[in-house]
Amino acid sequence: MYPAALTLLLAVALAANGRTVLKPGWNMFSPQQDIEVGQQLSPDAERQLPMLNDSRVDSYVNNLGLRLAAQAPGEKYPYRFKVVNDKEINAFALPGGPIYINRGVLDAADNESQLAGVMAHEASHVALRHGTNQATKASAAQLPLAILGGIIGSNSTKAALAQLGASFAVNSILLKYSRTAESQADIMGTQILYDSGYDPNAMAQFFEKIEDQQRDGGPVEFFSNHPSPDNRIERVNQEVSALGGVRRDSLTSSREFDGIKRYLQSLPGPRAGGRLQGSDDRRQPGGASGSAPDWPSERLVGVENSLLRISHPDNWQAYGQGDAMTIAPRGGLVDDGQGNQALAYGVIVNIFEPRWDGRGSQLQPPGYGQSSGQESATRLDQFTDQLVQELRLSNRNMRVIRYREVISVDGDRALSTYLSNDSPLGGRETDWLVTVERPDGLLFLVFTAPESDFQRYDGTFHQMVRSVRIKR
Ligand SMILES: [Zn+2]
Repeated sequence: MYPAALTLLLAVALAANGRTVLKPGWNMFSPQQDIEVGQQLSPDAERQLPMLNDSRVDSYVNNLGLRLAAQAPGEKYPYRFKVVNDKEINAFALPGGPIYINRGVLDAADNESQLAGVMAHEASHVALRHGTNQATKASAAQLPLAILGGIIGSNSTKAALAQLGASFAVNSILLKYSRTAESQADIMGTQILYDSGYDPNAMAQFFEKIEDQQRDGGPVEFFSNHPSPDNRIERVNQEVSALGGVRRDSLTSSREFDGIKRYLQSLPGPRAGGRLQGSDDRRQPGGASGSAPDWPSERLVGVENSLLRISHPDNWQAYGQGDAMTIAPRGGLVDDGQGNQALAYGVIVNIFEPRWDGRGSQLQPPGYGQSSGQESATRLDQFTDQLVQELRLSNRNMRVIRYREVISVDGDRALSTYLSNDSPLGGRETDWLVTVERPDGLLFLVFTAPESDFQRYDGTFHQMVRSVRIKR
C-alpha cells in the first residue's frame, strides 16, 4: 500500500509542475454570449464560404474534432467542425464552438496527427475565448469603458458586436489573433494532442512545413489569421518536454485519414470565384499598402437611433443600436495591428454620462429645476471637458488642437472641439468632437479621418452635423 500511494503523490506533483496552465483572458462577454455569437455568425459564415457539404468528409472531421475538443480544459462549448471547399491552407474558429477547416489543410497534412494539430489549435482559440477577448480589448481601446460597459449591458450580443464592427469577415476582429493568443493556442493545442493520444509534436511539424511552403511560394493564408508567434517551435518543444515527452504508443495516422484523403481527390474542386467575399473589406494596418475608402457619395440616407436622426452618405454603413452608433465607409474600420478594431474614417455617436460631484460649483444635475441660459452654458462646457478627459484616459496621445467653439446643432447650443490622436493607420488623425447637452447626459459625435485626409471629409462631416435632428 505504502509505495503505491507514494507513486501516486509523485505523479500528481509532476502534473502540477509540468504543463502550462492557461485560462481565458479579460472578457466583457459571458461564456453563454460566446455561444450566442457563434450561433449568430455561423449561418453568415456558411453562406459566404464555399462549404464542402460532403457528409463523409464532414463526419470524419467532426468526429475527430469532438474527440480532441473533449480534452480542452474549462467551459464545455458546443464544438462542431465543418470542411470548406477551399484549397488555401486555413482554418478558423468562431466564439463558442463553430470551427471551419479548409480542404487545403487536409491536402497539406501528411498524417492524421497533423490535421488533429490544426484542429486542436482552433479548439484552443474557442476554449481560451480569444475572439471575444479581442472584441473586449478593441472596445476598450476605442472608447472609455464607462460608455462601452453600458452598450454591452443594455443591448443584445449582436448589437454589441455590430457596434464593434465585428462580423464574420476574414479580417474580423473575432478571427484575427494576436501573437500572444497564437502562442497560447499552440500550447493548449499541444496539450490536447497529447491528452488525445496523438503525437504532440504534430502541430508544430505542420506549421513548420507550411512555413517552408510560404518561403518557397506565395503566402499561406493561415498565417494571415494566425500570425506566427516568436520561437513557435521552441515553445511547443518546451511544452512537449513538460508533458513528459512523446509517448511511445502515440498515434500518428489512421487508415480512415488515408481513405478520406483519397476520397477528397475524387471530389470536384471549389468553383472559381468561390472565395470568401469581403476579405478585402478592411484595410491593413500601416496605411501604406491600403487605399483610402470610397469617396463619400453625395446621396445621403437617414438613419436614427434612440438619440437622434442623422443623414450619411449612402455608401457608408451604420452599425449599432440603442444609444451607440458607428457610421463608417467601407474600409473605415481597420485593424490597428494588435488585432483591435478601430475607426479610421467615420463617425461615432453616443451619450456620455457626466459625473455629478457638485464640488466647487452650485450646478445641479441636468433637468433639475429651472436653470438660466448661463448655467446651462457652463454645464455644457464642463461636461465637454469631462468627456475629453475620459477620452484622453484611453487614448494617451490625444490632445486638443482647437479649443471649444460654440456652434448650433438642430437649434441647440453645441460645442465644437478639435482633437488630434494617433490614427490606427499610422500617423495622426483629426477628431472633430461635437457635444450637445441632453436631459440624460451629453450627446456627442466624433468625426474621424486621418489628418492628411481630414480636409477632404470636412464638407461631408458638416453636412452630417446640419442633418442632425435630436429626439426630444
Ligand atoms: Zn491560431
